[in-house]
Amino acid sequence: MSTRGVAILGSTGSIGRSTLAVLSLHPDRYRVRLLAARSSWQALVDQALKFKPDRVILIDAGAALLAARALREQGSVTRVEHGATALKSAVAESDIDVVMAAIVGAAGLLPTLSAVRAGKRVLLANKESLVMAGRLLMDEVQHAGAVLIPIDSEHNAIFQCMPAGYLPGSAGRGVTRLILTASGGPFRGTQWADLSTVTPDQACAHPKWKMGRKISVDSATLMNKGLEVIEATWLFGLPESKVEVLVHPQSVVHSLVEYKDGSILAQMGAPDMRTPIAQALAWPERIDSGVQSLNLSEIGRLEFEPPDHVRFPSLELARMAARAGGTAPAVLNAANEVSVQAFLDRRLNFTDIPVVIDRVLQRLNIVPIRALSDVLEADAAARRVAALQIETVYGALA
Ligand code: NAD
Ligand code: MG
Repeated sequence: MSTRGVAILGSTGSIGRSTLAVLSLHPDRYRVRLLAARSSWQALVDQALKFKPDRVILIDAGAALLAARALREQGSVTRVEHGATALKSAVAESDIDVVMAAIVGAAGLLPTLSAVRAGKRVLLANKESLVMAGRLLMDEVQHAGAVLIPIDSEHNAIFQCMPAGYLPGSAGRGVTRLILTASGGPFRGTQWADLSTVTPDQACAHPKWKMGRKISVDSATLMNKGLEVIEATWLFGLPESKVEVLVHPQSVVHSLVEYKDGSILAQMGAPDMRTPIAQALAWPERIDSGVQSLNLSEIGRLEFEPPDHVRFPSLELARMAARAGGTAPAVLNAANEVSVQAFLDRRLNFTDIPVVIDRVLQRLNIVPIRALSDVLEADAAARRVAALQIETVYGALA
């Protein structure tokens, strides 16, 4: 078997680091060719010294200068580049077979699209790109003959429960319904009245998963599950009404697929992203992920309950955007990113995140997506309107 070249976009983040942990178990199978991050140059330098990629890219030019100097001083021959344009062309290089798309937020869209257009195996953690431009991205997957494998634990679980030979982008034969599980986040038992005063650190203290701050806040509002419903419609070719959500606090059943005959298949495992990462890297083979095996008798019981839409309105906002179609999911996503950042910066209350998103959705015209520019314009407009909403209506908090 020949060694596969791997690029990791967002290598310094939570998913990026888990990916490197899996790759380090299989040096004969995979070779790290490219690592990229926004500005965390020290972490990137450490990774480059250990994995010796051909090149690293930092979006931030100043950070790239510092990384280049540090690497030179250590005698490293890894090339250092900077900027989004360099990243877009680097992922398409012929010595890269597999691209882990693990940048957070809308910034992941263009490099992911570039990897898809180059026909790579794309491991998709960056759910925001599918939410923004689902049809465009899936069309490009078909057109370029790329293989898109979901990393999001729920979607990876569904992929594993699909009929043999299934590839994302079509409806699974005989599949009638998908059930996405949700942990319920850190505020599952918190009263409505107490939610308005929760802090960023409380919101990021997820009970089951250790993740980046943006997705942690999304998990706490349940917007993460809303984004995942939209992600599932594009990956698995079913309407939003066929994608159910169940809160499952133990977080060991990662999602379920129902078939015509009444069978429901589930994928289970410890809540550790190294499992879906290893599955997607090696598919259709199986490789060691370094994850401990699950002790079900220790867990004892599995619970499932419907989500609470009163305390967590974001999930329903995402369903509305999915039904509206066109640029609505891109608007939802952008308004969410701006609101979550404002919450993390303590410029917005937790319970005002869905209020801002709702207002932005109401204020902007939703149009059909004909080209990538429609998505990028909707994203930019939603960011402007969201920022204005936060400033004018909630400025008093600052
Ligand atoms: P993180 O914040 O830990 O890491 C983000 C990475 O992206 C960092 O390496 C950062 O340098 C890079 N980055 C940020 N902005 C960038 C930009 N403009 N250009 C290039 N690189 C940029 O995030 P994470 O938790 O690893 O999540 C990454 C993605 O994976 C998100 O889309 C998230 O929704 C998804 N995801 C994460 C998990 C998880 O367990 N962490 C699970 C499922 C899905
Ligand atoms: Mg998930």
